[in-house]
Amino acid sequence: MPTLDNIVATKAILAKYNFHFQKKFGQNFLIDRSVLSGIVEAGNVGPEDFVVEIGPGIGTMTQYLAESAGQVLAVEIDDKLIPVLQETLGSYENASVLHQDVLTVDFAEIAEVKNQGRPLKFVANLPYYITTPILMQLLQNQVPFTSITVMVQKEVAERMQAQPGSKDYGALSVAVQYYTDPQLDFIVGKGSFIPQPNVDSAVITLRPKEEPLHPQVKPEHMFTVVRAVFNQRRKTLLNALANGGVLGGNKAAITEAILAAGFEPSVRGEGLDLEGFARLTDALYH
Ligand code: SAM
Repeated sequence: MPTLDNIVATKAILAKYNFHFQKKFGQNFLIDRSVLSGIVEAGNVGPEDFVVEIGPGIGTMTQYLAESAGQVLAVEIDDKLIPVLQETLGSYENASVLHQDVLTVDFAEIAEVKNQGRPLKFVANLPYYITTPILMQLLQNQVPFTSITVMVQKEVAERMQAQPGSKDYGALSVAVQYYTDPQLDFIVGKGSFIPQPNVDSAVITLRPKEEPLHPQVKPEHMFTVVRAVFNQRRKTLLNALANGGVLGGNKAAITEAILAAGFEPSVRGEGLDLEGFARLTDALYH
């Protein structure tokens, strides 16, 4: 049975290990049963799943996941939490801990070696300071996954779902919507965590699209174009791509590709929809 899902048990284990929260690691631990079971439910976690949890903290959600999943692998960066996790997960034979920075983990290899090449399921209350790099890494590296259910800042969940023309529309919106169908599960208030974050949060689930719009477009090319456009979103498409080093900054070649994709070099790239980005990437890198 999960044992940490309340403020009293959480404070007791923190005191036992003389643990101090580290802001630089985005540490806000869940202390709310209904949120914990809501996340496991949103992730539709079952015995057939190999679940990766990014940032287990003291193992509160890991215990919930281990109750439902086949296997759980929890990736934690903070040395101070490793002995805590040894205790809190000690009685779960299907849970293990990988002490590593998540941004350096080769998840394709983990799927291969630990899950017979089958896709992984990601469930996490993410460290908010690296939400975007973590999601971009999973999508760009084409890590095989059945779903990604994550707690993020509410504003970030909105950005993931934003449409062209809105101020929230950016590289994350395009990357998420090009490769997945995002679905907002529920909103979580500040009081569900210790310490309380400054912002409201949201749980969102990303399920892979059956087939991307243009399957021949390589993710690394797509991401190069999307990043170049949104790094300089007030510039014209031509200048943003050239300054972003696309095609070595060769303006003539970029102009030709923009025209071939059916756009004017003077438009702003931030207005392009998913199909537009795919067509443009295809024209630039075919
Ligand atoms: N899952 C726990 C919970 O819900 O109570 C803790 C979530 S807390 C928001 C984020 C966790 O991610 C912390 O345990 C933090 O130490 C860990 N973390 C931060 N940066 C990390 C990184 N680069 N790689 C792996 N874990 C990281």
